[in-house]
Amino acid sequence: MLSDKDRIFTNIYGFEGSDLKSAKKRGDWSKTASFIKKDREWIIEEVKASGLRGRGGAGFPTGLKWSFMPKTLGERPHYLVINADESEPGTCKDRDILRNEPHKLIEGALLAGFAMGAHAAYIYVRGEFYNEGSALWKAIHEAYDAGLLGKNAAKSGWDFDIVVHRGAGAYICGEETALIESIEGKKGQPRNKPPFPAMAGLYSCPTTVNNVETIAVVPTILRRGGKWFSGLGLNEKNAGTKLFCISGHVNNPCNVEEEMGIPLKELIEKHCGGVRGGWDNLLAVIPGGSSTPMLPKDICDTIHMDFDSLREVGTGLGTAGIIVMDKSTDVIQAICRLSQFYMHESCGQCTPCREGTGWLWRVMKRMVQGNATVEEIDMLFEVTKEIEGHTICALGDAAAWPIQGLIKHFRPEMERRIMEYRKAA
Ligand code: SF4
Repeated sequence: MLSDKDRIFTNIYGFEGSDLKSAKKRGDWSKTASFIKKDREWIIEEVKASGLRGRGGAGFPTGLKWSFMPKTLGERPHYLVINADESEPGTCKDRDILRNEPHKLIEGALLAGFAMGAHAAYIYVRGEFYNEGSALWKAIHEAYDAGLLGKNAAKSGWDFDIVVHRGAGAYICGEETALIESIEGKKGQPRNKPPFPAMAGLYSCPTTVNNVETIAVVPTILRRGGKWFSGLGLNEKNAGTKLFCISGHVNNPCNVEEEMGIPLKELIEKHCGGVRGGWDNLLAVIPGGSSTPMLPKDICDTIHMDFDSLREVGTGLGTAGIIVMDKSTDVIQAICRLSQFYMHESCGQCTPCREGTGWLWRVMKRMVQGNATVEEIDMLFEVTKEIEGHTICALGDAAAWPIQGLIKHFRPEMERRIMEYRKAA
């Protein structure tokens, strides 16, 4: 269990002010200029040494991603884009950073921006986050007034500006290239890759897109050292602390910062007051936001919450948005609802996603009733495999995986429902 001295987000619940004075009391904005005066490479190497992996879902090593940016500034400016779109159902951690710890994000933006040669960052805030966007905006103004942003930001010798861009609530704008298109004023539709954003991103300039939590932990990593961060967590590939969002059938749903690799059971029992009705009343858990395949109770009994442990059991840490379902849940209906969500959010560019997500939802609706054949379960699985990996962006995978998890772990329940429907007919 994470000890308080190793906690990065000490105001994640907003018990103290989010203003600059309160943030400085918590240690934010200390030694910022001294890190910049070291140099770009020092920051990148320290982030690499920390073992920090992106907190937005993909888990790509952050320092390595930054190192893909061109080493020298050419004619085209470099940009840092921060993804505060947070639309994955079950995920609500970045929202709390924006409203309660905005200065960690702003300071992190300056440091990360410098490390990749960017004089500007765009923060793309989900449209529905009106209050959070306003809190961020207020903190940015405070930072400008205090000389922490703008010319010679924080007396570091580096000029740095931040632009807040509000989205309009489309899930797909959380995909990095759709997000870039949206900032450019176009329809939020993912781009084909390559070229990757580090070569041609925002306005065709070298760009890195990072999640809010990823950027917000950087100042503390630099202050305490990459080694300190990599010493926390399960192992060097699954290091540091992580904000977990736990919702659903627990007694106290919450966001909590914990060590990467904490056992799921410990997380739920220590921080959420346990599963409603006790641990034995657990049916299944979606571990990393709605797109990750669910896990049945017997795996939940022992699973650790980190990238590799979850991958080994056929799912993923994703955004660490944990959705707990007790035995009162109609698990087929629950996944059917997600199928409807992904159908609705498909941007329609590629056929397997545009047509496939609707097809999945229509079949899932029949599966909820049991109005199907057992063979159709296999066909449903086959179709998810045809969608997975055959689309421009990961929304196709996101629509396929929940159904694959359902079939893998709850096929007997699907078959039982089909038999019951037949008997009643
Ligand atoms: Fe659009 Fe879906 Fe294709 Fe992604 S996978 S580009 S959301 S149609």
